[in-house]
Order: sequence, then C-alpha cells, then structure tokens
Amino acid sequence: MSSDNAKKIPPLFAVPDPEPVDEKLSVSRTPAGREMAAGVPVSAACPRCFGTGMEVVSGKGARRCGCRTEGLRTKLVDTARIPRRYDGCSLQNYYPTQGNGSQLKAFNYAFRLVREYPAVERGLLLMGTVGVGKTHLSVAVLRGLMDKGIQSLFYEFGSLLKEIQDSYNPVSKTSELKLLAPVYQAEVLVLDELGASKPTDWVKETMMQIIGTRYNDKKLTIFTTNYLDARRTATDETLEDRVGVRLRSRLYEMCKTVQMEGDDYRRKIDAQQI
Ligand code: ADP
Repeated sequence: MSSDNAKKIPPLFAVPDPEPVDEKLSVSRTPAGREMAAGVPVSAACPRCFGTGMEVVSGKGARRCGCRTEGLRTKLVDTARIPRRYDGCSLQNYYPTQGNGSQLKAFNYAFRLVREYPAVERGLLLMGTVGVGKTHLSVAVLRGLMDKGIQSLFYEFGSLLKEIQDSYNPVSKTSELKLLAPVYQAEVLVLDELGASKPTDWVKETMMQIIGTRYNDKKLTIFTTNYLDARRTATDETLEDRVGVRLRSRLYEMCKTVQMEGDDYRRKIDAQQI
C-alpha cells in the first residue's frame, strides 16, 4: 500500500465489549443455522450491527455488538431465581451503617468478589441476626456477576429442601435429580438462610451432599445464616449445631466469613414510611 493510501484509510482497532461476556454462553446456532445469543435469536435487523454481530465505534474501531450481550444478561437474570422482593438490591444501594465495621467489611468483600471474579477462590459466609442486609448483599453480588455474564443461581435453602422432599418418589425411593443438577452446576450459587430448617438427619445429610458436591468441584458459593459460631446465651444454637461439624469445617475453606452486626434495617424502612 502506498503511503498516500495509508493516510486516507484509518486503521480499525478492536474495542472492548460493552460488558464482558462468558464465551461459553454467548453465541450458538439453531438447527436451521440461525445465530442465537444466549438462546435468544439475534435479529438481522439490529440497527447497530445490521446482523453482523460487530458494531463500529466511531473514531475507535469495532467491538461485539450490544445485541449479542443484552439477550444473555436478560436470560441470566430470568434463570437466577432471585425473589422479586430483592429485585432492586445492588451494591450501589447497600448503605453500611455509619461506624459499623462489620457491615463495611461485608460490603468490601462483596465488592471485591465481583470486581475480581473469576480470579476468586472463596465465596462468602454472611452471618448475623435478622435484617442486617445479608440477603441484600448476596443478591447484589449475583447481580454484579450477571452483569459480567456469569451464570448465577439463588435458592433459599429451606425451599430447596422442601422441593427435594416433594420430588421424592416412594416407588423408586429417589428424589428428582434433575432438580439438583442446576444447584450442583451453577457457576455461582447463593444459599440463603443456611441452618434455618430443623436439623433432622435427612436435612443434615442432604445439606452435606449439596454443599459437599460444590466443595469438591471448587464451585463458588455464597451463604447467609442467622446462626453464629459462638453462643450469646446458654440456650443459643450455633451454626455447627444446625449444620453439623463436617459441614461447618468445609465452610471455613469455601468462604470468607463475616459476622454482620447491627439493627434490623426493616425497622429503619418502617420508620421512614409515612
Ligand atoms: P437479612 O438477610 O440480614 O435478614 P435483608 O438483606 O433481607 O436482611 O434486609 C432486609 C431489608 O433491608 C431488605 O429490603 C434490604 O434491601 C434492606 N437492607 C438491609 N440492610 C441494608 C443496607 N445496609 N442498605 C440498604 N438496604 C438494606
């Protein structure tokens, strides 16, 4: 190419994606060969990329078009099972109580987990009394990860155990394994209210099976629990009493633990309402 031409044609640089996307989930094809993004058909009429999947950013270069990432994010949110009550919970609207070091520490751990994922070895174990923001923060982490294209799942542990019980087939004497597959396979899982169910032998065994499988597979899991490690009164039950010594031991290795202190935030919400 002559030096004259080189001046006329500006070079086309690769520009980073609007948001990072999980390559495994991003683009596939229907049997008819039509391209899909996260299982959603990609419109050939996208005004940004005209169906090519690449959009030109004026003066900068080209990047993967937003139409390939929006479908993925919507699908991740739809399948994460986050309860509607926590729809709006994010790191941006979590406000650690002033002077409360434990809430600030929990927020910092959550923030770093999202920022540094996938270079993260351990999940979180958020302990504390009711209403200190444990579920809010764990949902906020899932939201942050889904924005990065990470497949996530939320389960309130009691509901999961109930679903397993309901799926029990007295003839085959087995529970529906299909139910557990997503729980085992989710890239990141929140198990809310660990230890809340009455710790019968079956509950303890089932918890151990679920969490033990994720432990063996080194899958990232975030737990919340109202139970603490130390008794505050002689009659208090500890987390170990509720989940058993083997499971408590695995949690030390799987998670960073924060014991969150504070008042029930719902009282604050109630006081602000007219
Ligand atoms: P926990 O899981 O500890 O029982 P939740 O996370 O369910 O508590 O919090 C109860 C309610 O209070 C939720 O609506 C949550 O969004 C809100 N909340 C709790 N702590 C905070 C906080 N620090 N900043 C903003 N909202 C909060």
